[in-house]
Amino acid sequence: MKLQAVIGLEIHVQLKTKSKMFCSCSNVLGDGQPNTSICPICMGYPGTLPVPNAQAIAWIQKAGVALGCELAQDSKFDRKSYFYPDLPKGYQISQYDKPFCLKGSFPLVVSGQERVIGITRIHLEEDAAKNTHSKDGKSTLVDYNRAGTPLMEIVTEPDFASPEEARIFLQELQRAMRALGISDADMEKGQMRCDANVSLRKEGETTLYPKTEIKNVNSFKFVEKALLFEIDRQKKLWEAGDVPTHATRGWNSETGKTEAQREKEEAADYRYFPEPDIPPFHFTKEELTEIKASIPEMPWQARARFMREYNTSEANANVLLSDEELARLYEDTASEIAQADLERTDIAGEEQGILMKLAANIILNDVRAVRMETQADPIRITAENLAELAVLVHQGKIGSNAVRPVLAEMQKTGGDPDPIIEKLGLAQVSDTNQLDDVIAHVISENPDVVAKIKAGKEAGLQYLMGQVMAKTKGAANPGMVIELLKKNIQ
Ligand code: ADP
Ligand code: ZN
Ligand code: MG
Repeated sequence: MKLQAVIGLEIHVQLKTKSKMFCSCSNVLGDGQPNTSICPICMGYPGTLPVPNAQAIAWIQKAGVALGCELAQDSKFDRKSYFYPDLPKGYQISQYDKPFCLKGSFPLVVSGQERVIGITRIHLEEDAAKNTHSKDGKSTLVDYNRAGTPLMEIVTEPDFASPEEARIFLQELQRAMRALGISDADMEKGQMRCDANVSLRKEGETTLYPKTEIKNVNSFKFVEKALLFEIDRQKKLWEAGDVPTHATRGWNSETGKTEAQREKEEAADYRYFPEPDIPPFHFTKEELTEIKASIPEMPWQARARFMREYNTSEANANVLLSDEELARLYEDTASEIAQADLERTDIAGEEQGILMKLAANIILNDVRAVRMETQADPIRITAENLAELAVLVHQGKIGSNAVRPVLAEMQKTGGDPDPIIEKLGLAQVSDTNQLDDVIAHVISENPDVVAKIKAGKEAGLQYLMGQVMAKTKGAANPGMVIELLKKNIQ
């Protein structure tokens, strides 16, 4: 029997607004003491009135556009009633049938293939407080700082066909949240939390069978692992002739297994009704059009563009795009190279591709390191100068180990690579006459190593090469040094 996985995700994302969802308490919870960022509104005192956070609403609409959703013209908040110590009002203000964003479709690229993932809805609600249970199970402490903080919930259609797809989607989502500046979406910190729903069906079927909902998954890796485990568990049931029944399970990262949990309440038990203290919202078509136009290029769009226009690898594009400053520098450098308006060279065609790749590597390896050494200083290396540096490396004017010191100086002065290379004496020595002298010295200083090389122990060559590099302060052309060493030893 060929079975296929059917996966849908429900994702909660904490929005990093300054204040909470319905009051002016600070939403910067960080390392604050428990129960310090609370007020009568988020503590649910009688007679208080919630005031919706306009920033949170504007942000969820941005997220909706980014995920290809329609923005609702009419929307409202609803009360979702349940009783639990982390919910001081006895209900959560959430959205039931009129969420801010609906019917999205998201183009997910998996191993170069585009898959379309449906987004059912995105709604806004308030988070609950945080319970801490004592080890002996006898007492519970509640920290209300998180109570009433803005939480966005994204629900997808059951459109993922593998745990890998689900994981890739979550990573794209994290990138989107960061690009929009609305959440850091760090799963380990609980800023992004995912419930993963999964069922199986026979290949080719369209039926949806009862699903398992896996709660408490707090990293990309665990989402993938928990789903793999669950698929395996359900497969065994199917093969034994039992179609799995609906289940709520939790992921235990220590055992690497999912475990049965108490069933959650049915929707009807929540007794949803419109929140009477918050008037419904209406947005004009013009307002929604304006929001759509305000969305920056999304990371997956930029990545596709980098790969298409600059021949960047997917992995490099992802690292570059996770760092705004590096991404901007790379983009500007690549467009310098693409325009080929580098003064001292004319480069074209295939060479441009090589140079762009070289520029990506220099930025990722060396510029990043130099920036770190100069401690949070913004990068002063200009795209034009970086492009020039890439050309110099490509042409062999400097060796790859001279890149770092040249960049360090470029960072210090903001200057051109050429005079810096000259000043630091880092031009690569490819002149045989100059190298011959150094090599003769190194050979005469190391007679025993030379004897071993003659006896066939090639490893000694590396040692001698190191000596030559030391004497030339890394300026010798390594390929040439090896050749000359071999020639002179024979
Ligand atoms: P519930 O009523 O349990 O909340 P929903 O229909 O609202 O279920 O769906 C919740 C999530 O579960 C969505 O992400 C949806 O895509 C996913 N889902 C629904 N049915 C299935 C199924 N049979 N298999 C896998 N995922 C499913
Ligand atoms: Zn408050
Ligand atoms: Mg549901």
